[in-house]
Amino acid sequence: MKKRINLQLIAIAAVAIISTMIMVSAAFYELFCDQIFQDLTTYSYLLENGNISEDYKDASLEDWGIRVTLIQPDGQVIFDSEADQESMTNHAGRPEITSALETGKGTDIRTSETIGQSTFYYAREMEDGNILRVAKLGDSLLSVFGNAVPLIGFIFGVLLLLCWVLTRFLTKNLLKPIEYMANNLDHVEEIETYDEIQPFLETIHKQHDDILKAAQMRQEFTANVSHELKTPLTAISGYAELIETGMACEEDVNRFAQGIHKSANRLLTLINDIIKLSEIDGNTTDEDWEQVNLYQSAKVCVEMLQVSAEKHQVSISLMGEDCYVQGNKQMLEELLYNLCDNAIRYNNIGGSVDVRIWQKDGRAVLEVEDTGIGIPKESQERVFERFYRVDKSRSKSTGGTGLGLAIVKHIIAKHEATMELSSQVGEGTKITVNF
Ligand code: ADP
Repeated sequence: MKKRINLQLIAIAAVAIISTMIMVSAAFYELFCDQIFQDLTTYSYLLENGNISEDYKDASLEDWGIRVTLIQPDGQVIFDSEADQESMTNHAGRPEITSALETGKGTDIRTSETIGQSTFYYAREMEDGNILRVAKLGDSLLSVFGNAVPLIGFIFGVLLLLCWVLTRFLTKNLLKPIEYMANNLDHVEEIETYDEIQPFLETIHKQHDDILKAAQMRQEFTANVSHELKTPLTAISGYAELIETGMACEEDVNRFAQGIHKSANRLLTLINDIIKLSEIDGNTTDEDWEQVNLYQSAKVCVEMLQVSAEKHQVSISLMGEDCYVQGNKQMLEELLYNLCDNAIRYNNIGGSVDVRIWQKDGRAVLEVEDTGIGIPKESQERVFERFYRVDKSRSKSTGGTGLGLAIVKHIIAKHEATMELSSQVGEGTKITVNF
């Protein structure tokens, strides 16, 4: 980046120097021409008042470095200080003469490529009607420029070198805060930089924090998963060892087999929940998204949980109407199942679960209310965390993994829905989802 900025600045400087030099040279040449014509005008007045041929004889013309020609209005040359007037052609067509005849005076510059010089002509109509032309040899624009090339080259080189040094200093200073920022991404919040970069820095800061948080969460999750897997596996291994060593009688073997079965089932539910979580975390394609009749899904769910409800001596009922939600059917069924399953498992004997579905402002609302044990205030936020349980033994004894509400939270976020939880210990819990 530094190199690119340097190169670009140098290129800009080079273009600026070259164009300035060209413009300055052109301006100076203009001044130079003006000066020559002014001199020629002065000479012409001096000569008009004196005797041209006499002055010429005095050789002062040669000293002045000028050539004088006297021309009749018809273009015929009467006198020329450098050539024989007899041999000279008619001058009526020369631009400076034509102009002098028309307006009183005329100028022209004619360049000879071979000698690289220009002749500056100044012609003026005198009082007697004849035209007095004074000419002087001067450098052409190209030769002026050509002569100055070594000097121009030297100045160009010095200026470019100066620009190069300044550019390096400038880019170094300019990029210093950015470089510092790149090397200190861990403490971006302390870095002071350009106002324009501040939003970029804030985004990086946020992303950096998010990455750290995600890494920490992943680490915690892995630790929790390992811990959760360890308990049933230790049990399985213990039971198996007892059977293997032949220390268990037939009655015990039966009991141990039941224990192994229970622990294996626990492992399966746990792994299933972990898979579900990672599936929800992963990207679902648009094809999985459809119009889902929430009421129909709830009906299937309530029917499925009827047996479990009876086992817990809890009644479960569904109220409401057909309501459509744009979403993933499988995820919505999972959401309904987890909420209803919790409402049954954390209920009291003889309690009830009410599932309500209705439409509010064109959007579906789902409510699952139970008359169960309730959730203490301090735990109400945390129940959505992975593996958080208010009562660990009750959760485990009823087949809970501590992941149910974490899955619910993810599904709600995927559907851009919102959720409210209100609960009173000993009275019950109500979870409302607004789609
Ligand atoms: P679990 O598999 O343990 O049920 P969840 O993530 O579904 O895990 O719920 C987390 C914790 O929140 C549960 O362990 C339980 O203590 C509490 N909880 C969830 N739903 C209810 C409810 N309807 N009534 C009371 N407590 C609940």
